[in-house]
Amino acid sequence: MAKRDYYEILGLDKNASQDEIKKAYRKLSKKYHPDMKEGSEEKFKEVSEAYEVLSDDNKRAQYDRFGHEGMNSQGGFGGGGFSSGFGGFEDIFSSFFGGGARRDPNAPRKGDDLQYTMTITFEEAVFGATKTVTIKKDVTCDVCHGDGTKPGTSKSTCKTCSGSGHVSVEQNTPFGRVQTQRECPTCAGTGQEIEHPCDNCNGHGTLSKNVDIEVKIPEGIDNGQQIRLSGEGEPGINGGPQGDLYIVFRVKQDKKFTRDGDDIHYELKISFAQAALGDELKVPTINSSVMLTIPAGTQSGRRFRLKEKGVKNVQGFGYGDQFVTVTVVTPTKLSEEERDIFKELAKVNGEDINEQQENIFDKTKRFFKGE
Ligand SMILES: [Zn+2]
Ligand SMILES: [Zn+2]
Repeated sequence: MAKRDYYEILGLDKNASQDEIKKAYRKLSKKYHPDMKEGSEEKFKEVSEAYEVLSDDNKRAQYDRFGHEGMNSQGGFGGGGFSSGFGGFEDIFSSFFGGGARRDPNAPRKGDDLQYTMTITFEEAVFGATKTVTIKKDVTCDVCHGDGTKPGTSKSTCKTCSGSGHVSVEQNTPFGRVQTQRECPTCAGTGQEIEHPCDNCNGHGTLSKNVDIEVKIPEGIDNGQQIRLSGEGEPGINGGPQGDLYIVFRVKQDKKFTRDGDDIHYELKISFAQAALGDELKVPTINSSVMLTIPAGTQSGRRFRLKEKGVKNVQGFGYGDQFVTVTVVTPTKLSEEERDIFKELAKVNGEDINEQQENIFDKTKRFFKGE
């Protein structure tokens, strides 16, 4: 829907004086005030937005030059967004309507949810575990049971608002004095007052406490995943249900294994001889170990798959695999004998090698690096 021209909204031409703008706004805002006419809130907003811009010489000049686009680029009020840069209007608006939907302060409400980040080891994530965490949270006061009153006393009717929960306030607005209803500041809208607060919680009904909570880490949980502990959050309000506690898992890295979802990756280092001749090697898995056959002529970087030797899926969809990637390690220090064998090997292969002997400078460097 295209935005209507601000002058058109107020029924004015481009040369309208500030006096005419004010008059037009006064007339139209009374006409479209949602208290006077039902379903006119949108029209009222439109009129007020037009007035906000045209009554401000700077904004008006901006609008005259660039239209609605110009207002957006100035960050005044983005694409129909009305809230930013509209402090003045918002204030007037909320004083008319009490800030939009008013909720019953005495209605039961669910307590706040809490979040706790738990750091666990690789093994705890793979196999599951049970751990106890200490969480500081609000708990219902066990002296007053959340009521906030001293035992034997009860809440009384709020004297400020006589129990209605709201008070009347007169306000000056661009179109005269308006009487509005505000939430009672004494009782926060509840209509009740605590004359004798509970000594244990000072009338809050809740206390902040360190609480031990047992957390069952599910088998196969992964880094960044979370579980919900229903009812372990903050206490409900006015008899509402407890909030929930979310445990977010941070999984520490393992020295041997790398995890990718339910799959496990493992790097197996082998020598030239093992790669060339082949071998049978014991490879660790998360559960124990398996014997892996390395065929003769295995290249560095070759990957072997150990089916279903990975992590059990946290939702019970079977097991992941373990992947073993072979790295052929080039020797860095050769003995005289080894050097002779490699030279011999090169000769057999007909290779003419221009051997690079380690000089004294490299040796010294290695010595200081502690190699
Ligand atoms: Zn209490
Ligand atoms: Zn009150």
